[in-house]
Amino acid sequence: MRHVDEGGRVEAEATPRQHEAGPALVLERVAAAYGRHVAMRDVSLRLERGEFLGVIGPNGAGKTTLLTVLNGLGRIVAGRAEVLGIPVTPGSVRGLRRRIGYVAQLQEFDPLLPMTVAESVLTGCYGRLGLLRRVPASERERAGEFMRLVGLSGLEHRPLGHLSGGERQRAAIARALLQRPEMLLLDEPTASLDWQAQRGILELIRTVHERFGLTSLIVTHDLNTLPDVCSRIACMKEGRLVRLDTPRAVADPELLSELYGTRIRVVEEDGRMHLFY
Ligand code: ATP
Repeated sequence: MRHVDEGGRVEAEATPRQHEAGPALVLERVAAAYGRHVAMRDVSLRLERGEFLGVIGPNGAGKTTLLTVLNGLGRIVAGRAEVLGIPVTPGSVRGLRRRIGYVAQLQEFDPLLPMTVAESVLTGCYGRLGLLRRVPASERERAGEFMRLVGLSGLEHRPLGHLSGGERQRAAIARALLQRPEMLLLDEPTASLDWQAQRGILELIRTVHERFGLTSLIVTHDLNTLPDVCSRIACMKEGRLVRLDTPRAVADPELLSELYGTRIRVVEEDGRMHLFY
């Protein structure tokens, strides 16, 4: 695995943002629906800036729906949501989305798609600059710095389809960073990766969260793929937030077995929790 460049301008230009006033997000009894299907209901949550929230729960629990509410793609049918100090309304969504980076799970991908790694990373600045504007040299330079930061040095001109899954996720993180986000939403970013690539991505997520002073949320149903930087864990089931607590409190076999409807064992080793299903 390529190592993450620890120095350089990226670090120098990073602006920790925890000091900005007010919470990063406030949800008050929010419900969200797809058509007539209510996928999330009665969710209240407050997150301070700089926090890292893990969101866990079984399939269909409403985890992804929660992320869509935060980036304005969800349809809120009850309650109130405020993200980065801005009420989430149809009118505020565009501006808000520019301030939120999103990394999805590894996508099925046509290996013949003629797009290089650098080109895919540069799409991260289109929201800010507009699709048709020429990308200034400063953005290209910055994209290069982020590619180095995520460990993709030397791969900038390689077709995206020639990367491994882990490398593609690194490119997705560089792309999100080029947006200069204040919040990072990660939806199962390590799904379908082998354990070594998973570990590398989790370390990288921790690095960028801390270095850029982000507020981050990560959704996963594999409890072993939560970064150890998570400050709190939200447990969701059947569209509801059933528990919000510290990782240590959530690493409780009874609580987890009830949440997932199957027996889960928790083993602690060198201060780390390992879960067995
Ligand atoms: P998973 O871990 O399987 O991704 P999840 O916890 O992220 O699950 P969501 O994707 O938020 O769950 O889905 C919550 C509910 O909403 C599920 O019942 C799902 O079938 C439904 N749902 C999700 N997306 C849509 C959609 N686009 N249209 C209709 N229903 C949807």
